[in-house]
Amino acid sequence: MGNKINIAIDGYSSCGKGTLAKELAKKLNYVFIDSGAMYRAVTLFLMNHNIDVLNEEAVENQLALISLEFKQSVIKDRYEIHLNGENVDAEIRELRVASKVSEVAKISAVRKKLVEMQQLIGAQKGVVMDGRDIGTVVFPTAELKIFMTASSEVRAERRYKEMIAAGKEVSFDDVRQNLMDRDNLDSSRDDSPLTLNDSYHVLDNSNLTPQEQFDLAMSWVQELLD
Ligand code: C5P
Repeated sequence: MGNKINIAIDGYSSCGKGTLAKELAKKLNYVFIDSGAMYRAVTLFLMNHNIDVLNEEAVENQLALISLEFKQSVIKDRYEIHLNGENVDAEIRELRVASKVSEVAKISAVRKKLVEMQQLIGAQKGVVMDGRDIGTVVFPTAELKIFMTASSEVRAERRYKEMIAAGKEVSFDDVRQNLMDRDNLDSSRDDSPLTLNDSYHVLDNSNLTPQEQFDLAMSWVQELLD
């Protein structure tokens, strides 16, 4: 496989974007970037410093103090996010962070900082990035854009099982409510809302096995690389 491409994967919360992105990156020997982890890490920083996430000016004033880096984890065979030098990859997945992250992600100054970082990472090509605005704002000219969907029940169920497996004490209803709230905020915000256009391949995985989903996405990649 000669020329490298960028692959943008957008969609609602807990559609399995990360799983697909990771598998594609592994198969193609590309870099996988979880852009949501960046918004979550900024949110964690603000929470740790008692900043009101609804106060845009206060949030903006903190941004210069935040440094983010993805570092390869030897044990887990993946890139993990570090916030000011500290590995926060597990902590950012907690529901308390998820409950605030979409408010933070509404703020244009936050988006500007993170989009710049993401575009820098993608400049060399060979990146699979998942998020909400990757194909619309971050890499509008990405060679392949995938928009993932699944029914809200399936998504909530998946997310709940993931959190329980990770040892988190959460209720199914809280997890489902958080997904719905985030989807609403992410789709209705002014700056870079989650939205679908003609340049995307739509992948509804409600009734697909992980293998079927992977094969479908790889067939789209193959069409471009052949
Ligand atoms: O992908 P994940 O669910 O971890 O993303 C957490 C939140 O970060 C999303 O609900 C959304 O508010 C925000 N986000 C975003 N743009 C991205 C990625 C994530 O606004 N590209």
